[in-house]
Order: sequence, then C-alpha cells, then structure tokens
Amino acid sequence: MTETEKRCWAEISPENLLHNVRALRAALPAGCRFLGVVKADAYGHGAVETAKLLEGAGADYLAVACLDEALELRANGVTMPVLILGHSSAAYTETLIEHDITQAVAGFEEARAFSEAAIRAGGTLRVHMAVDTGMSRLGFLCTGKNFDRGVSELAHACSLPGLDAEGVFTHFAVADEPGEENERFTREQYRLFTAAIEAAERQGARFAIRHCMNSGALLHYPEFALDMARPGLLLYGYGDTEGKLGLRPCMRLVTRLLTVKTLSPGASVSYGRRFTAQRETRLGVLGIGYADGLPRLCSNRCAFAVAGGMAPQRGSICMDMCMLDLTELPEAEPGDEVEIFGPAADLNALSEAAQTIPYELLCAVSKRVPRVIKNFSPYRV
Ligand SMILES: *Cc1c(COP(=O)(O)O)cnc(C)c1O
Repeated sequence: MTETEKRCWAEISPENLLHNVRALRAALPAGCRFLGVVKADAYGHGAVETAKLLEGAGADYLAVACLDEALELRANGVTMPVLILGHSSAAYTETLIEHDITQAVAGFEEARAFSEAAIRAGGTLRVHMAVDTGMSRLGFLCTGKNFDRGVSELAHACSLPGLDAEGVFTHFAVADEPGEENERFTREQYRLFTAAIEAAERQGARFAIRHCMNSGALLHYPEFALDMARPGLLLYGYGDTEGKLGLRPCMRLVTRLLTVKTLSPGASVSYGRRFTAQRETRLGVLGIGYADGLPRLCSNRCAFAVAGGMAPQRGSICMDMCMLDLTELPEAEPGDEVEIFGPAADLNALSEAAQTIPYELLCAVSKRVPRVIKNFSPYRV
C-alpha cells in the first residue's frame, strides 16, 4: 500500500520496551537467563524490530511459535538463539539445523523423527524437551500415573543421536490467576517439572537450561526462575495488574477524529441503530473499525482517550469507522488524535469490554494498521 495520511496507526515505543526488559531483569535472580517471547509478530508489535531491541538489550534467547516466524528473524539478520515453542514437522530438520534454530520437542515419537532426520542430514539439531505437567498441550506427559513412563521417554529422547538436548521446559496453565486452587495447581506443576528433571537426570539426561517462567510465574512465583525466564505479555507492558514492576505499555493504538457533527435528541447512530441520542449530542467519527482489530463486541461499551478526557464510544463499530460521544469534550475537533489503547486508554478495560484478554487485542491489531516506531510518554498526558 502507498503511504498516505493514516486513518489509524500503532506507535511502538523502543524506550518503553527497553524499560520493561530492565525492570523484568531486575526482578530475576542474578545469572538467570532472559528469553523474550516474540511469537505472533511480537504480540503485534513487530517481531523483527522487537527482536533487534531485545538483542541490543542483552537478552539471551528469543522464542517464536513456528518455523516461518523463526525464518523471518533469520532472514532479517537476527543471529541470537531462537527457540520454536510450537510444532515443526521433522521434514524441516535440515532447515532448522542450517539456520541454527532450536526446536521444542513434544514427545518421544517427535524426538525419534527429528533424530533420524538429523542423522540423515549429517548434523545435530538443538532441542528443548517440553514436559506436560498439566497444561495438556505439547510435551512428554508426566502427570499422575504417566510420570514414570513420561520420564523414561524423556531420558531416552535425550540420548538419541543427532539431538542436542540443551533445555527442558514446561508451561503453566493458571500462574497468572489468583486464588488458592490456582496456586495449588501451579505449585504442583512446578513440583512435577522439577521431579521429572531429577528423575530423567538419574537416567543419564543433562539439561543446561531448565525453564518454566511465563509472565504469570514471573509476577507471582519468583522462586520458579531456574535457569531462564520466558515472559511475553509483561515485556509489552501488560499483565502486571497490580503495578508491582512499573512496566510501560509499548504500543499506543491511535486514530483521528474525521468529522464532528451535532445530533438532535432521538437520532440513532450506526448499523442496527443500537444507540439513540437522549440529548443534543456532539458526535465524532473515527477512522478505525473492526477490520483494524477493534472488536465489534466492544460496541457501545468502551471509551477512548481524547485530549481533555475519556469519551464513550456510541453505536455499532463498523468495519472501518466508529463513533464517539464528544458532548462533554467541546474542545475536540476534526484532526485530533484519539487513543484507542495505550498509556491513557487502558487496554485491560477494552479487553473486558471485548470479553477477552489483552493478549488477544494486541494480536488482533491488523496488517492494515501501520506500525510506527516512536517513543511516547508512558504516562497519561
Ligand atoms: C506464549 C508462551 C509464553 C509467554 O507467555 P506470557 O503469558 O505472554 O508470558 C511462554 N511460554 C510458552 C510455551 C508460550 O507458548
């Protein structure tokens, strides 16, 4: 697309990202490695830019979801270690080795397939073994009566030729959720993880990097750091709802007021006529809609930041536009910036209106929205 005046854009702040890396590192024990999760285009922030900032900030590792994401980093000159957390077919073993990419291994059959392919390719594939301690997703299943079998398959997988089992990891299901039952479950996942490692090491395995700390664990279970922390959401400034770490949002989603008009009482707004003006209403039209990643579910139940304060959104959100009530903000005029989320308009509130979590809204900011690298004040202005 050619560059013309932007309807909406996402400002990405390198300063705020670097601030967050420093704040997170300061919360970790000395010597703990730091992996930055940059899957899903760095939660919408731009994977290559984010990876380069993390590389410059001295991060030790990056993680992505799939081979294409890893290859995008390599093609753009990112040379630091990259771990693929998700599934890759063993058919791509040679590509993984050639680009020096670390692959997560989800079970014994996968390990054997990677091992055979690595031998055929005449190389060694660096892997991190995934241990399933209760997420019931990828990993050697080590819960309940599966423990002994899971551990022996894990140890056996580590001994296969063509594989270098550098690491072992697990993933928590509720480390970010409060409550006694969630804490019990998380502590049990950690206990199983460390018990599986010990048992596998008794059977000859050796892991240089043991890791389990996602954002929730980093915040609530600092004692789970082991050899490496693996935050995603916190890096981007979200997830610390109590504000313990002083993190700063790295993305500011912005649009403009296209026009402003005054409606008479009784006038309805947008598709479906789901809002009716009860009084004389100053209505602004914004250049952002659900095709940009603003969920239609938020219609009539969210507010955005205009210079001067928050303004409620009115009527159904359209594909490319939506409407804003400026009756209480008489100074707002066409051309003014409106912040959808960022330091002034809280993403958590918008997520609640969309009945989802901040992760989904960050990832939802669509390809049509240009990312602009630009530092912005982390404080409400
Ligand atoms: C996405 C992901 C993370 C990061 O999770 P956050 O909650 O964003 O910190 C860590 N580990 C794995 C395996 C993941 O899939």
